[in-house]
Amino acid sequence: MATIAIAGVEKSFGDTTVLSGIDIDIADGEFISLVGPSGCGKSTLLRILAGLESSDSGSISICGKPVDGLRAADRDLAMVFQSYALYPHLDVAANIAVPLRMRRLSTMGRLPLIGPLLPGSKVVNRTIADDVRIAAKAIEIDHLLSRKPGQLSGGQRQRVALARALVREPAAFLLDEPLSNLDAKLRVSARAEIAALHRRLGATFVYVTHDQVEAMTMSDRIAVMMNGRILQCDTPRAVYAAPAHKSVAEFIGTPKMSIIDGASLPGSQQGWVGLRPEAIEIARPAANDDLLAGTVTHMEDLGHEGLVHATLKTGETIVARTNPSAAREARVGELLRFSADMRQAHHFDSQGWRISPAPAALASDVDEPTKQLAHV
Ligand code: ADP
Ligand code: MG
Repeated sequence: MATIAIAGVEKSFGDTTVLSGIDIDIADGEFISLVGPSGCGKSTLLRILAGLESSDSGSISICGKPVDGLRAADRDLAMVFQSYALYPHLDVAANIAVPLRMRRLSTMGRLPLIGPLLPGSKVVNRTIADDVRIAAKAIEIDHLLSRKPGQLSGGQRQRVALARALVREPAAFLLDEPLSNLDAKLRVSARAEIAALHRRLGATFVYVTHDQVEAMTMSDRIAVMMNGRILQCDTPRAVYAAPAHKSVAEFIGTPKMSIIDGASLPGSQQGWVGLRPEAIEIARPAANDDLLAGTVTHMEDLGHEGLVHATLKTGETIVARTNPSAAREARVGELLRFSADMRQAHHFDSQGWRISPAPAALASDVDEPTKQLAHV
């Protein structure tokens, strides 16, 4: 069990600044995701946490103790990589046993022919085999122990990598995109398995992903990273409901939030207005308010809902969530009128930061059920 404190961590590779001042306090037993686009510095931060990479400045503490001088092996953390890093010539049992053999056997004891003959090695090898079986059972791969990685599916390999981390009983698990090699359907079930494993173990998990859905569905908190900075660190609910920055708003949520230049909206100020698809709909024919006029570029009928994508005269794109039949009826190139529920609007200043307190929240005092967005 472990608390992890990351304070002022900075890292550059040559002239390229990859991390510029990262601070995160992770609670004992928390599941926290580092999420952000590819190249934003997630893996670098995780590798610094693990001790596989050094930082230029700042400090990492685990359970209140600085670990900056400690080697990776002495940090009591287990890392699961995207590639799984399994040894192809070893069977599953031997792969899972690697960290235990490293820790419990001497260099001599690990030798294939001499090792087993050394005094005491029989007992140690038996406890290693027992621990491997327990970990394999926990991850439900105990029937695969004698297979080689080449004889396993992607999902099974991912479980072997998890079991190899689990067997060490680490204070915390660090996972770097562990599901990104799985197909979409398997990813959904693997997500549930990792979340269940976290609940069962109660250990601290730091989970790196570029997939916002993974982060949203598994985590106690998510830290949204862009260009080497944490823009927001909060519960999935809070990040979705009140994104701290326009970039966070666009990254979290599918389909992404429509962002309209505030200057192009009557009565609006400088900065940006953000509307999620559920806040935009195709206007009823009878409506005579000034509405958003947009040319349809793309429709999606997902069965339970429809999505209509359109481009405004200003060139900005919007997405409306509709019923499936409305999406089917829309035609590419057709000019449609959309209405927006401004009570659900998010407002950002010209630098992209959320304007707080949110005008959207204050607007709930307005009498009419839907305050339409006026737009020419
Ligand atoms: P992410 O995991 O978010 O995709 P990374 O942490 O892997 O991002 O990389 C962040 C940036 O740092 C990228 O631009 C990458 O090219 C660069 N980078 C990572 N590792 C090295 C390295 N060892 N040497 C030089 N540049 C690196
Ligand atoms: Mg990465």
